[in-house]
Amino acid sequence: MPQPIAAGPATHDPASGLILAECFGVEVPTFQGEGPSCGHPALFIRLSRCNLTCAKCDTKYTWDWSRFDPRQESTRRTVADLVAWVASSPVELVVITGGEPLIQQARLVPLVRELLTAGKRVEFETNGTIAPVPELVVHGVRFNVSPKLASFGMEEGKSIVPAALRTFAASGRAVFKFVASSVADLDRIAELADTHQLSPVWVMPEGTTAQAVTEATRVLADAVAARHWYFTTRLHVLAFADARGR
Ligand code: SF4
Repeated sequence: MPQPIAAGPATHDPASGLILAECFGVEVPTFQGEGPSCGHPALFIRLSRCNLTCAKCDTKYTWDWSRFDPRQESTRRTVADLVAWVASSPVELVVITGGEPLIQQARLVPLVRELLTAGKRVEFETNGTIAPVPELVVHGVRFNVSPKLASFGMEEGKSIVPAALRTFAASGRAVFKFVASSVADLDRIAELADTHQLSPVWVMPEGTTAQAVTEATRVLADAVAARHWYFTTRLHVLAFADARGR
């Protein structure tokens, strides 16, 4: 059984296990709700902790200890435990998300290796501020990189890390998925994509309700299409009302 852990930053002792917020998709099946694999059956491993503090974050239970209790919101799980959990499902896609999962990337290397050996494929949902180690940049892995804009409530001096973005862009295994709610956001995305050579660009409407996602979709669609970018919805919001664990 997962054990509650004490408050504090993640350690980097590979023997200590991964610090999880939750994992789901085996007991109650679900889909990848965003990005290139939107609509694909998926299992989710959501790691706790983040290195950013976005005002519009929809997973503050992974890091905002002024509102949430880390002893209630975190568990430690071993790689073996997680591999067994994933292996209990026929679903091929495993999404490793957060928080910011690459904070714990040293302990993710053996997990990803075992998942790939078991025939799974892996997608990371990352904020793009931490360059992945080479052991994670391998066949069967994709990085859905979501640099956070100032309009998302995060100072870009912290959320835009050029060296990390360069590593993702050069990896050949990354897509750049920006959250947007206005056409002005698209102008900022274009500047960042141009400056940091980010491609392919995906845009995702901001919102945690079906109404908000639909409204942002309509605001953005023509302008995204005009730029020849990719567009994704948030299927889990539309299908499951953004319920936790779906
Ligand atoms: S990077 Fe993601 S998980 Fe971290 S605070 Fe921002 S939205 Fe939340």
